[in-house]
Amino acid sequence: MKFNKLIIYGFLYVVLLVSVGYLTRNKPLLMIGLYVLITIPPLYYFYWINQEYAKMNDVLEKIINNQLEKSHVERFVSNRKFNANLNRLMRNIDKMRLIKEEDQLAIEILTNNITSPIIYIDRDGKIRYVNNQFLNSFEVNLEINDIYEKLRNKTIYKFIDDAFIFETKNIETLIINERYYQANAIPVKNKINNHYTFIGIVFIFHDITELKKYENLQREFLADASHELKTPISAIKGASEILLSGSHPQETIKEFLTIIKEENDRMERIVNDILLLSRLESANLTLNLEKINLSELILSVKNMLNYRLINKNQTLHLDLTENLATTGDYERLKTVFLNLLNNAINYTDENKAIYIKSYYQDNYAVVSIRDEGIGIEEKTLPHIFERFYRVDKARSRITGGTGLGLAIVKSTLDIHNAKIEVKSKVNEGTEFIIYFNKG
Ligand code: ADP
Repeated sequence: MKFNKLIIYGFLYVVLLVSVGYLTRNKPLLMIGLYVLITIPPLYYFYWINQEYAKMNDVLEKIINNQLEKSHVERFVSNRKFNANLNRLMRNIDKMRLIKEEDQLAIEILTNNITSPIIYIDRDGKIRYVNNQFLNSFEVNLEINDIYEKLRNKTIYKFIDDAFIFETKNIETLIINERYYQANAIPVKNKINNHYTFIGIVFIFHDITELKKYENLQREFLADASHELKTPISAIKGASEILLSGSHPQETIKEFLTIIKEENDRMERIVNDILLLSRLESANLTLNLEKINLSELILSVKNMLNYRLINKNQTLHLDLTENLATTGDYERLKTVFLNLLNNAINYTDENKAIYIKSYYQDNYAVVSIRDEGIGIEEKTLPHIFERFYRVDKARSRITGGTGLGLAIVKSTLDIHNAKIEVKSKVNEGTEFIIYFNKG
């Protein structure tokens, strides 16, 4: 009821009271009776209004405490307008709740499908959101609304704690559980009435371990390559200094010129192998793919190295399946077999035998190159495909090896999706088995 209406009704009621009093001034019993009659309706009205307000309060409390069922439509109180408005309010709240639930679901799907661990912590230090990757990668047991002080990992804790002290964007590289992460702290600010209020910080951890490994490999490779080149450079420098230091007999000049030539050849081989390896590992490498008869390729490699076999009086036994086919880059695969046969010759004594077999096995075209050479110790076997790795540096040097041959073999086979296996026994021999995709 509106306020002015209440004043008018109040005024009329007072007029009624005065009129009844005046009209029944000589009949007290009637006056009391009438007064009682007149007073009951307003008293009842106020009692009813009170009840209605109590009901309204009850409904509002239920809404505030989230106790009203979704889409709850009912006559809460007698006032139709109030019921209609309340039902509309309920529908709006439902709609907002639904939008929030859908947003939450979208965020969950989005963040759980990003491989990076993510956590959102509000300004009170409470965890408001954390994705599965965070819990799994950092092996933590956290729940929503936990405070971040619960984090046991000191590195993560310190990064988060610092971010809350400075409240500014921050990027750091962290080592967590032996992996490298680029950790990002991104403060979240809400613009209210043209003022930014700090509401929390989102933390994203990008796993950069592989990148770091790659960087380290590059660094190591550069150091190894420089080291490898240093030896022939020093030899050339030494020999030329001696030659320049005065007049020498013809024989000495020839001896030192031979050293210069040999060391120069060695440098050339190293540089060529390095270039070949870097080409093999470059992202824009193009392969000239064609159907290849592997047995024929092996025969042509045998012909190329025949002079070496004859020099060492080694016998090469071939057991080749005709037309053994795969798809690949002919020249690159030729390098693979040249390197493997060259190694077999290098690491096998004179008068011994080497065996090459080619055959189909399941879906593979297989080639095995076996020698009766010095063999490789089991503990060093996993390293032989590493760049510049040599079991016996001196022996490799004598044979003119660069230590890059097997690394080139491995990289070439990798880009052909082929696998290589190695079996070896010291003083008995070594066998390399390559599995190419058939056809
Ligand atoms: P290198 O140029 O020194 O031969 P590779 O990368 O071709 O380098 O081979 C790496 C090392 O693996 C060699 O130095 C050698 O110690 C070992 N190795 C490779 N092939 C054989 C083999 N057939 N028999 C014994 N050892 C081998």
